[in-house]
Formats: sequence, structure tokens, C-alpha cells
Amino acid sequence: MERILIIEDEVPMRMALQDYLAAEGYRVFAEADGAAGLARALEEKPDLLLLDVMLPKLDGFALCAELRRCGRELPVLMLTAKGQVEDRVTGLDAGADDYLVKPFSTRELLARVRALLRRSHRDRPAAAPLRLGEVCIDFQQQRAWRGRQELHLTAKEMAMLKLMAECPGEPVSRDRFLDVVWGYGAFPTTRTVDNHLAALRAKIEPDPNHPRWLKTVHGIGYRLERDPENTKNGVILQNRDNHPPPSGP
Ligand code: CA
Repeated sequence: MERILIIEDEVPMRMALQDYLAAEGYRVFAEADGAAGLARALEEKPDLLLLDVMLPKLDGFALCAELRRCGRELPVLMLTAKGQVEDRVTGLDAGADDYLVKPFSTRELLARVRALLRRSHRDRPAAAPLRLGEVCIDFQQQRAWRGRQELHLTAKEMAMLKLMAECPGEPVSRDRFLDVVWGYGAFPTTRTVDNHLAALRAKIEPDPNHPRWLKTVHGIGYRLERDPENTKNGVILQNRDNHPPPSGP
């Protein structure tokens, strides 16, 4: 399920956007000021940002520029007030992908959101295989190997690994696993995440009781360990043509 963050200080507008996009099947969350919005965007990594320009604490331009400075490439749709022609240019300069002038129709909003999400899926590079010591995981084919022996990972286990591999070294919270891997509307508990993670460790760790790759982050969730000896291992290998991969580093 695609996740949209709305940053808008006007309550009626925020509520309307939230209700409308949720009804369209998006997972929606919202913040009312720029500082909280930036923190949330960095933490939750939404698929799209709906960003008002005039915001308390940090305006939409500064927020967007800061996101880009942090290397975040999610699509940003700016909401600008009527008559502020300069806003459009400033917004695009700050790294916004598109803009909507208030007031706008919900149909137009939805069309822009869909177009931006489509474009961002197309531009996203296919996930390269992940190499963890002897284990290689190919997200494209949804297959994994230890050396030449194929491992059988479930779709959920694959999705959990992929989520951690997107930002190696960074903790992924149990709530985020539930959000991204299980989706809104399913009602698993955080214990479900732990159980699946344990199953994943049993399959890919050399010693599941002393995990080398899938580390627990106490009070938060889990993270994928970077390989300290070789940054290519444990993160991404570029060559996707040689399967099954050679065993060992
Ligand atoms: Ca505003």
C-alpha cells in the first residue's frame, strides 16, 4: 500500500485531504507544521509528500530543499496559494516535482498523485541482489541462495529483507515493518514481526543465535548490518547476470 504524508497547517484542508486519499486506498498520515513534517518524512520514508508552502516553523520550500539535501528522492507535490506565481518557480527550484494551485478539485489532486507515483515507480532502479556473506538474495526473481544451494524464503521474509536493505545500518521499526510488509487493514501484532524475523535468521544467518546480519535494535526493531570488511558485500552488488552467485566473498 502506498503511503502519503500530508504537511498542511490548515485543519479543514488537512482533514479533507486525509479523508479523501484514505478513501482512495492510500495509507495517509499528516503533520501540521514544517519541523514535525520534515522529521516525519525522514523517519517514515513515505512514497509521496503533499506539501503546503506556508507552514509554521519551516516553510514548504525550505522543507523540500532539506529533504533533497538529505538525498531523499520521493515525489513532492506542492500546494500553493492562488496568485503566488513565484511560488511555482521557487517550489520547483527547491526540488518539488509538481504543484497544485489552491483551490483545486479532488479529481485533479488524485490525477497528479497517481502520475507522480507512477513516474517514481518507473524511475526507481530495480533492486539489485543483496549479498550477505555466502547468501545472495535476488529481489527481482524473489529467490535466494546460500552458495549454490537455493534457500526458500516466503514473500513476507523477502519483503522484510528488502525493506532493511533499502537503508543498510538504519533501524527499521516494528511498526514500519507492519505498515510496509503487512499493510494497513491487516491486524498482526508486533510479535508477528519478531516471529518472521526469527524465521528469516534461521534461514540466512550462519549462527541464528548470534546474528551477524540481522541485528536487533532494542526498543525499536531491526537493522541490516553493513559488512565492515567490504562495503560491496552486505549492501548491493551491481552485476545481476550471474546466478547462482559464486559462494563466499
Ligand atoms: Ca498553510
